[in-house]
Amino acid sequence: MTSRIALIGNPLRRRHSAVMHNAAFAANGIDATFELRSIEADEVGPFFGEARGPDWLGFGVTAPYKQVAMEHIDEVEPGARAIGAINNGVRRDDGSLLGFNTDAPGFMAAVDGVGVSVAQRPAVVFGAGGAARAVVWALLDAGAGPVHVANRTLDRASRLAADLSPDGSVVPSTTDSPALLRAMASAALAVNATTVGMTSDDIAFDVAPLAEDALVFDLVYVPPETPLVRAAKARGLRVSNGLEMLVRQGEIAFERWTGISSTADTMRAALMSWDGGSEVEA
Ligand code: NAP
Repeated sequence: MTSRIALIGNPLRRRHSAVMHNAAFAANGIDATFELRSIEADEVGPFFGEARGPDWLGFGVTAPYKQVAMEHIDEVEPGARAIGAINNGVRRDDGSLLGFNTDAPGFMAAVDGVGVSVAQRPAVVFGAGGAARAVVWALLDAGAGPVHVANRTLDRASRLAADLSPDGSVVPSTTDSPALLRAMASAALAVNATTVGMTSDDIAFDVAPLAEDALVFDLVYVPPETPLVRAAKARGLRVSNGLEMLVRQGEIAFERWTGISSTADTMRAALMSWDGGSEVEA
């Protein structure tokens, strides 16, 4: 019996997850398939009914179902509950479904891979959507602080701060506040967790205020080289793009589905040799 995993979302414009997970199944001789399923909201409940079947290993979830999916499964891990979203889950032997968030540990694994230590250092995150929540949670969990969250819509940054750090270790701000510019000068890293650079050719933020040892981390992975990544490289800063986070979060999910670890190299190689990886879609 071929085992199954499906990623649900709508629309599903990217095929990266299927490419990297199917490559890891093949490389490890596992008879399993990772499918992409673009479904309507009223199909989410029935999907989670189907995913309890014996041939299912687990599931992936992307926009716009990362929150609502939590209502259709049996258990949500505490980290994902705090972040407010799941992006993956497993089917347990008794058919029950456990959801979790691999964006947060995937992001931290990518940061660790660059050799940057965030503990007791300030960090700056641009954006306050679902991905920003996972990144901020991961940074706090790794001991970073204060974490400055700058967003076009200040209210959303304030909500994120109140949800994730009632003690004030997350500082919400607008993207042009003088306090934010001061924080950038001492930040260990500055993260783009907005869609800027993916949906437009604009730069997510100015890299000039950053210190020379700062890491610039762009969560966007299509295109792999955004205006932000280009500007950070031009200044000689360390840079990571969203592909490494995608691979690292995928590696963590794959291990939870199959028990097999260390698949990042296989996944990365599959994405690098795939000619659809740089497609920019509307
Ligand atoms: P989301 O929940 O829709 O949030 C979008 C964020 O972008 C919000 O903060 C929004 O600000 C901001 N934004 C949108 N257009 C903007 C503009 N023109 N100027 C300034 N800010 C703008 O999206 P998400 O799920 O958090 O995803 C954010 C990015 O992370 C996407 O590019 C996604 O592909 C990427 N991502 C990557 C990975 C990975 O593994 N590499 C994983 C997850 C997500 P407002 O609040 O003001 O609207």
